[in-house]
Amino acid sequence: MKLVIIGGGPGGYETAIRAAQMGAETVLIEKNALGGTCLNVGCIPTKALLHSADLYNEIKSDAKKNGIIVEGVSIDFPAMQAKKAKVVKQLVNGVGGLMKANGVTVMKGTAVFTAKDKIEVRTEDSAEEVTFDKCIIASGSIPSVVPLPGHDLEGVVDSTGALSFEEVPESLAIIGGGVIGIEMAHVYQRLGTKVTVIEMLPEILMNLDKDIVAVQRKLMKRAKIDVLTDTKVGSIEKTEEGLKVNVTDPEGNEKSVTAQKVLMCVGRRPATQGMGLEEIGVNMERGRILVDEAFQTSVENVYAIGDCIGGIMLAHTASAEGAACVEGIMGKKSELNLKVVPSCVYTYPEMSGVGLTEQEAEKEGLDYQTGKFPLAGNGKSLIIGEQNGLVKIIADKETKKILGVHMMGPGATEMIMEGALAMTMGATVEDIINTIHSHPTVGESVKEAAESVFGNPVNMPPIR
Ligand code: FAD
Repeated sequence: MKLVIIGGGPGGYETAIRAAQMGAETVLIEKNALGGTCLNVGCIPTKALLHSADLYNEIKSDAKKNGIIVEGVSIDFPAMQAKKAKVVKQLVNGVGGLMKANGVTVMKGTAVFTAKDKIEVRTEDSAEEVTFDKCIIASGSIPSVVPLPGHDLEGVVDSTGALSFEEVPESLAIIGGGVIGIEMAHVYQRLGTKVTVIEMLPEILMNLDKDIVAVQRKLMKRAKIDVLTDTKVGSIEKTEEGLKVNVTDPEGNEKSVTAQKVLMCVGRRPATQGMGLEEIGVNMERGRILVDEAFQTSVENVYAIGDCIGGIMLAHTASAEGAACVEGIMGKKSELNLKVVPSCVYTYPEMSGVGLTEQEAEKEGLDYQTGKFPLAGNGKSLIIGEQNGLVKIIADKETKKILGVHMMGPGATEMIMEGALAMTMGATVEDIINTIHSHPTVGESVKEAAESVFGNPVNMPPIR
């Protein structure tokens, strides 16, 4: 079996390794750096910058509370950027090493289909033809652009641009209050930038549980991040004071926000143009490749996974889809449950969730119960000095099966895996209660939230 994979992001490169492990002759085509969006301009560099920004903030604000006197704390932003670049480079090189170690052939260039079983790999000065038995497209996504007047002015950037500022901007207007926008807001607020988030919808982070977002909004207010919801951006102008973002507020009044830089963060769209897909008969819908449950496209031997098929655009979803797809191709039945996908927001404290939010449970008309435990009652959170947050469990009222777990707190992006595993195993609230949780940990709050479903958490006054 000769398998060609287009795209070396987390979807493509992990799928290539799995294919090689299963005995396929595997070729991976990548036009830029291995690692894709995630390693080069996405998950990894954002979290590297965020870690530096949090560390700076912690030393500045928390060291003294812990009896540590640190004087003259300041930011060396180029050094922060260099550290970020070093992490990226090490991981990208690591992917290259894994390709070699697994016997995957890597071809550098842009893949363009010339027939249903043929791809041309184009570089500036060459074109090489590759044939295949099966092909998996994992071409990822690119930032969406709203073509409003002024979107192309100097100083208006996308997430990639915001990751490579040469200096910390004095002020930043972020158009879009989704996960990427809110993470960027935290990075730059912590580094001293005056941040304003402008969101067209009634709330930021609309896919998160509303109780978690409510706590986040309070913390953002405390951090002096301005959040304008129900606010529509009309245009951007260059003025002497900076970039003026003209908006219409919820009451229909025309207003403006002026900032040194503007980050346009309004979502991402599948990267599928110019690959010859329509020409060979692959069905698409607004740029997204259409696939069935086996990730097969309308062309029998061509499959697609990851951001390029839309859906849940996350690195771990791309990898999971790739694994299921290649296992199916190689004749192995695999389990993929896209209802249990943890999603994380790397602010401080972190937020995460898996399964249904309360809004979704309500919308689906389910008979459910919730249990909440605020971190104010958790010892480890007090030790860390971050008690803003909570754990919330949503369970079926009758069977007590867990339908969703949502949390905000230190380590929430790690803790969510307990919820994901519980849901994968079809666990009930009692299963979590019966699991002895180690002490002192923030994770104990998951057990307390489960106990709250029955109204009897230990470290909180009884719920009446
Ligand atoms: P990609 O990673 O986009 O990789 C696709 C690859 O295909 C690219 O390398 C591209 O160059 C290549 N390619 C495209 N067309 C061709 C062609 N014709 N020929 C050859 N090569 C081609 N997700 C998370 O899970 N956690 C996070 O914390 C997170 N943070 C993010 C932060 C930011 C700022 C951004 C932008 C994204 C973030 N994401 C995060 C999303 C995550 O990066 C994507 O969901 C993930 O990278 C998708 O993987 P993929 O393999 O489908 O595509």
